[in-house]
Amino acid sequence: MADQPPVVIVGAGIAGLVAALALARRGKAVTIVERAVHLEEVGAGIQLSPNAARVLVDLKLGDALRPVAFAPAAIRIRDARSNADIVRLPLDDIPARYGAPYWVVHRGDLQAALLSAVADNARIKLHLGGYIEATRDDKDAVVADILFGESRVSIAAEALVGADGVWSKMRTLALGGGPAVYSGRIAWRAVVPIEAAETVAIEDLTRGTSLWLGSKIHLVTYPIRGGRLLNLIAAVDGDWLEPRYDVPGEPAEITAAFANWPDPVRRLVEIPENWRKWALCRAPNGPWTKGRTALIGDAAHAMLPFVAQGGAMAIEDAAVLSRHLTDTSRPVPRRLAAYEAERRPRALKVADAAARNGRIYHLSGFSADSRNAVMRLLGPDRMLARMDWIWGWRDRD
Ligand SMILES: Cc1cc2nc3c(=O)[nH]c(=O)nc-3n(C[C@H](O)[C@H](O)[C@H](O)COP(=O)(O)OP(=O)(O)OC[C@H]3O[C@@H](n4cnc5c(N)ncnc54)[C@H](O)[C@@H]3O)c2cc1C
Repeated sequence: MADQPPVVIVGAGIAGLVAALALARRGKAVTIVERAVHLEEVGAGIQLSPNAARVLVDLKLGDALRPVAFAPAAIRIRDARSNADIVRLPLDDIPARYGAPYWVVHRGDLQAALLSAVADNARIKLHLGGYIEATRDDKDAVVADILFGESRVSIAAEALVGADGVWSKMRTLALGGGPAVYSGRIAWRAVVPIEAAETVAIEDLTRGTSLWLGSKIHLVTYPIRGGRLLNLIAAVDGDWLEPRYDVPGEPAEITAAFANWPDPVRRLVEIPENWRKWALCRAPNGPWTKGRTALIGDAAHAMLPFVAQGGAMAIEDAAVLSRHLTDTSRPVPRRLAAYEAERRPRALKVADAAARNGRIYHLSGFSADSRNAVMRLLGPDRMLARMDWIWGWRDRD
């Protein structure tokens, strides 16, 4: 097998980097092509639920992530009208229950851990500044034509993996898929020093995850960078769409959306000087695989972030793709088809759960009262048990 061409991955986000590590661990040579010239993550956090954290720990990333991760004590869900608790979900028995932690991390810290592992792995080559221009089938390979500035380089691949995010070029180029579909929601993100967050009197703010549910708007906060920063995400209904990853947002615009909120929360969202906003989109429903080409992560199934699972699904994809792609009992196209058959129902089910949460979170008036009553009736144990099918996922080997 020494002459086998590499697996080529387009995109060095969470999906691409984790897939490269998972494939390399199973002995594959991997070439990653990333269009950015410098890799820099959004200055914001990401929740890594146990299903995702387990994969990362299995890839020996635990030592790098533990010092920069934060394990929230609980998820505290509050009503934005009163600031009163609806329900508090304790997370202390998560490692015992799922055999993996629930971490929240700075995206830059996750990226640094992944890039360092990639750099240390002799089987993986990472090329920055490369833009996928065309793909074509060749005998026993698929060829990716990549533009590096003015130069075009053709790379033959055993398989070509599109991990190029929600606005995936690979999806349209190789699979005939459509553009991302705007959801009518905008996410605003900011990070503040924990000392600044401590100046507002909100119980448990710096110990765990807080979620406030308001009419057409909700707010999520959690500590990151080992507890030294607080991450804020506000999701609002709106009709702004810019087909880019994220752009600076005007603080006055987002703080105005909190004008009628309880005093401490309003003061919290007034702290950040820099906000960034992101038009939330879903991937269109189309094929993920064709011949020797496959999509993973947001390129395949970008979803709303309201179960905090887009990145987690990308990480699960990476594990499953690497298992199928190294199953030499069948030809590559059938290995990729098996990957899609295994992943698609789960990822779409999770995406639907996220969309449903988005509707429930933004209810108003009597509907919001009914939602709160149901959450209180269910209580923490049954609310947490409803996450088992997502957080309890394990790869088959
Ligand atoms: C507000 C918000 C909060 C979220 N919170 C969570 C959370 O708590 N937990 C969670 O699990 N998920 C969360 N997500 C989802 C998560 O961020 C995404 O699902 C995840 O980052 C997708 O990773 P990816 O690698 O598929 O795509 P991306 O991170 O978008 O990476 C794609 C990469 O491909 C590169 N690229 C693009 N086009 C090309 C091209 N033509 N050629 C070469 N390279 C290219 C890009 O530069 C980029 O590096 C959240 C998302 C949002 C918006």
